[in-house]
Parts: sequence; structure tokens; C-alpha cells
Amino acid sequence: MSGRTYDWSNGVIEYELRCDSCGQVFECGDDSYYSWPVLCAAAEAEGWSIGSGFDGGHECAGCSSVSPRAGLAAARAA
Ligand SMILES: [Zn+2]
Repeated sequence: MSGRTYDWSNGVIEYELRCDSCGQVFECGDDSYYSWPVLCAAAEAEGWSIGSGFDGGHECAGCSSVSPRAGLAAARAA
């Protein structure tokens, strides 16, 4: 599970998108982290490979270009 939520005491939930391969956290330049779908869309626009669902695979632009698609399974087997 690469997605993470922060539920602050004031009721604001922030989402964190982390690369499954290298652990890099996607940093958005706006307030996209308040919405998981919006955050994923923003990451995809930056070249990230986003799996379906909160628990799906997520890879940053660098990792997804090295191991596109089937690379997720291959990376686990390696
Ligand atoms: Zn990565």
C-alpha cells in the first residue's frame, strides 16, 4: 500500500502518494493532496504510473519509465 492519509485533528485529510519502487513522495505544487483522485491525476500528468484504487501500484516517472507496466511484478520477483 503506497497511499497514505493524514487525518488532522481539525478534520482536514491529506493524502500522500509514494513510489512503490524507490519510495519517492510525489510533491504537488497545489492543494491536490486534499483529494486522492486529484492527487493521482496530478501525478499521472507528471509521468507517474498509477494503479487502480488506493492500494494499487504507484511508480514515479523515473521508475515507471525503467519498468513500464509488467515491471511491477518483475520488480517484486527480483
Ligand atoms: Zn520511483
